[in-house]
Amino acid sequence: MKTTKTIDEVRRAVRHSRARGEDIGFVPTMGALHEGHLSLVRAAKHRCRAAVVSIFVNPAQFGPNEDFSKYPRTLEKDTEQLAREGLDILFTPSTDEMYEPSPAVWVDVAGLSDRNEGRVRPGHFRGVATVVAKLFNVVQPDVAFFGQKDAAQLAVIRRMVRELRYPVEVVGCPIVREADGLAMSSRNVYLSAEERKQAAVLSRALRLAEEAFRRGATDANTLTTTVRQELSTETVSVDYVEVLDPATLLPVDDVKSPTLLAIAARVGSTRLLDNVVLGEQ
Ligand code: AMP
Repeated sequence: MKTTKTIDEVRRAVRHSRARGEDIGFVPTMGALHEGHLSLVRAAKHRCRAAVVSIFVNPAQFGPNEDFSKYPRTLEKDTEQLAREGLDILFTPSTDEMYEPSPAVWVDVAGLSDRNEGRVRPGHFRGVATVVAKLFNVVQPDVAFFGQKDAAQLAVIRRMVRELRYPVEVVGCPIVREADGLAMSSRNVYLSAEERKQAAVLSRALRLAEEAFRRGATDANTLTTTVRQELSTETVSVDYVEVLDPATLLPVDDVKSPTLLAIAARVGSTRLLDNVVLGEQ
């Protein structure tokens, strides 16, 4: 595995891969890797001849009262895990490598950026879209892999790629879960033992809604009520339960085609996301 820190180094490494006729699969991450991230790396390895992972805790996507400084950073362990997966190129840039001291250029995906997760975290998706645009410019991948776990992020990236005409195929990958259903997340390490048990209610609530949908409930109110009732059995604080079009993130009243049912809730001070796509073929 080639480890690179600068844009020049990673570009050179990608050039060498391309010179050998390899296509490039790319997985952007913020590190603190778990099986969810590794599933994306495996998808990239499976689909492309060469796989590139970036680890960059992107300051621009954190709000002023969010956890940027205490976000888990486990670079040594991450590097070992990626080497074991047979990764080809790892890119771990500094903030100075990615940003000018006073940035003037931002990528704003208007509309989508203010819906669902973006409504609760103003500026978050501007930070995400900007760093992914920069990383795409640096790595120039053929295919990029993102988790369905961050469904709104996936919608924002797909729109950005389409509208900026990036020659990149975006692949969404399924949510990887713990045995009790909790969606894996780097932030799960913040949970106390008690909170960790409570956190399973998110996936349980989604499963109940999924079962109701299979039995014929297509009305958004019925589905969100099912979710909220189950969430209320634990001490979690709900940010939203929404039924949305997965591409536009606009509300859907009645589920006919594949529809996103998305939750954000706080367990203690840890904010957790989960979702399911209803009506997927
Ligand atoms: P992050 O490091 O949190 O920015 O995540 C990097 C990528 O991993 C994003 O595309 C996430 O959606 C994806 N990801 C995070 N958690 C999971 C999970 N449990 N299952 C699948 N993908 C995930």
